[in-house]
Amino acid sequence: MAKWCTTCDRPVEGETCEVCGATVEEPTREPMELKWKFFIVVTVIYLIWRLYQLISWLLH
Ligand SMILES: [Zn+2]
Repeated sequence: MAKWCTTCDRPVEGETCEVCGATVEEPTREPMELKWKFFIVVTVIYLIWRLYQLISWLLH
């Protein structure tokens, strides 16, 4: 996961910012992440279901 320098307002690779040299903190986990995980799981299940329908349609 990319880190973000709040001083320069840019994404940072690694532990420190290459521009200002500030130590970039790990982004805090938000409760929104669980909602996204659920959304991804539902999407994957839906895609598998559609793929199953497509395969069964092709075989008939
Ligand atoms: Zn910076």
